[in-house]
Amino acid sequence: MHPAPRQPFSRQAPWSAARSSRLYGLDAWGQPYFSINEQGHVTVQPRGSRGGCLDLVALVQDLQARNLSLPLLIRFDDILEDRLAKLHDAFACAIAQYNYQGRYQGVFPVKCHQQRHVLEHVVRVGRRWNFGLEAGSKAELLVALGLLDDPDALLVCNGYKDTRYLETAILARRLRRRPLVVIEQPDEVDGLLTCSRRLGMTPLMGVRAKLSVQGSGRWGGSSGDGSKFGLSAPDLLATVNALGEAGLLGELRLLHMHVGSQISDIAVLKEALQEMGQLYVQLVALGAPMGYLDVGGGLGVDYDGSCTATAASTNYSLQNYANDVVATIQECCQPQGVPVPTLVSESGRAVASHFSVLVFDVLSTGKVNAAVPPPQEGEPLLVRNLRELLATITPRNLQEVWHDAVKFKDDALSAFRLGYLSLVDRAKAEQLYWACCRTISDQLGHGSIPADLQPISAAMAATYYANLSIFRSAPDTWAVNQLFPVMPIHRLHELPQVLGDFADLTCDSDGKLNRFIDAGGHKSHLELHHLQPPDPYWVGLFLGGAYQEIMGNLHNLFGRTNAVHIRLASQGGYRVEQVARGNTTSDVLTAMDHDPRSLVEHLRRESEAAIAAGNLTIPDAHRLVTHVEESLRQSTYLESSVRRR
Ligand SMILES: *Cc1c(COP(=O)(O)O)cnc(C)c1O
Repeated sequence: MHPAPRQPFSRQAPWSAARSSRLYGLDAWGQPYFSINEQGHVTVQPRGSRGGCLDLVALVQDLQARNLSLPLLIRFDDILEDRLAKLHDAFACAIAQYNYQGRYQGVFPVKCHQQRHVLEHVVRVGRRWNFGLEAGSKAELLVALGLLDDPDALLVCNGYKDTRYLETAILARRLRRRPLVVIEQPDEVDGLLTCSRRLGMTPLMGVRAKLSVQGSGRWGGSSGDGSKFGLSAPDLLATVNALGEAGLLGELRLLHMHVGSQISDIAVLKEALQEMGQLYVQLVALGAPMGYLDVGGGLGVDYDGSCTATAASTNYSLQNYANDVVATIQECCQPQGVPVPTLVSESGRAVASHFSVLVFDVLSTGKVNAAVPPPQEGEPLLVRNLRELLATITPRNLQEVWHDAVKFKDDALSAFRLGYLSLVDRAKAEQLYWACCRTISDQLGHGSIPADLQPISAAMAATYYANLSIFRSAPDTWAVNQLFPVMPIHRLHELPQVLGDFADLTCDSDGKLNRFIDAGGHKSHLELHHLQPPDPYWVGLFLGGAYQEIMGNLHNLFGRTNAVHIRLASQGGYRVEQVARGNTTSDVLTAMDHDPRSLVEHLRRESEAAIAAGNLTIPDAHRLVTHVEESLRQSTYLESSVRRR
């Protein structure tokens, strides 16, 4: 029969920061960088367990006082450094554990985050491990050449390559760089040989294998027979032969793979590694000196903290990953007496996701009107029915009431369409319907809800209007249904009493955040707090440091948000290392080939004409032109001072 109704949240034991931490999954995905303090604020431990802690809310207040308005991207450089350290520690540990007679030497894929300050930081911090860069296009190669100054760091050159790309990479060897040109397509060999002959010089070369293992998940298509890149077994052999005939086999140093981003299941990785290990052994047997084995990207991030093989998670840890790479490659090489290679990875997502936090503010909420209208003489039957229904709700008849309420509301709409119900009475019917829903939903609480009553909580949910564009700041939520942890960053010692989702500033109905992490799955509403204007309500989107900035676009002409780089200071507190101001309206108009100056001039001239015609006063003309000029100078997002008026 009916499951016993659960106690509403509000009647349970007092709410606490610890309960918020569990509710939003922070205690799982936030480790070791994010937690909640006594005041119910999210805190950031940028060095993980090595000490130092910042109150995120206080930090945002301080940044606002520096005229850095929301939405604001806060990049914690210490977290990026800590992630790099953890990656290297994991490989160091695995290498020691298996007594692997080689080393690990990673590269950062530029594709994952091209912003200069970020790459400079990666290169500077990475120097202690000879950490390099991976370029996937000619432009990325130029960036890498400009930044990478460690002669021992690797510069892995992937992607489509024309003559200029190839010659640039080859010549870079003369600048004491270590370019490794990866042959990804069968026809790239000819181009490479031609360029080498012309310059009398070769780069270090690699080959990308097209593995038979099919990746899983969203990016599974990056491997397997149908994948876009890589050499099949016959292509590999043909390439080795071509290099041999040209006398260049001695420069074949690296075997490369990329199974796809965010490998959720370690079984997929293991299978790929076995194939790679055997290919490596075979290439050595064919006479290539080799020396490097590059396992590409794919090291995943546990966005929901569930440790499962689902899309937003991984069923392995960083240490499991390193262990599997080291052990599997060793198992392939050792029995054949082949010296083990230097292991390279191109981990982007796993390095860059954690360090940036996007904070945005909520402008207002949209809720249904569930106020009960006062009864009046002579109300139509439908309205009276709904009134009676509302009065009869008990925990025992919720499902019945719900079905009746839906029926009466539908009848009311039909009657309105046919001209039998006035707008006043239709509005009453709708309010009474929502009042029924509210009462039912209050009686249900937040427990497990019978399937046929689930639409109620969705219908009652509030829309929180967010000062951001998801197309700019979290495009993968829209493009590939990616889940990121999203939660309020304050008031976490208060019970969140509202279920809601977010609508962004764009006029696009896709401009929503309505999929939230939920231990291995997702939910369409998030537990949120009632707004308490004029106090702001701040929400953080976490783990979005990889890919989002570059994939973000100018939809509805919302530009880049303000971004800051924060470092922990040695004496406590923090330093603002870099400020990258967001785009002004003028910037985004110019990007679309508009001319802000002639726009102002055009409107000024039209204002003069309107003044002359008596349609506009001089003060109003001044006001209009000032608004236009100020808007052009300002951010594309809503300004708090203007918003309040
Ligand atoms: C995208 C890409 C990467 C980075 O992948 P992550 O999953 O972000 O680590 C590495 N190598 C190649 C060739 C890529 O295309």
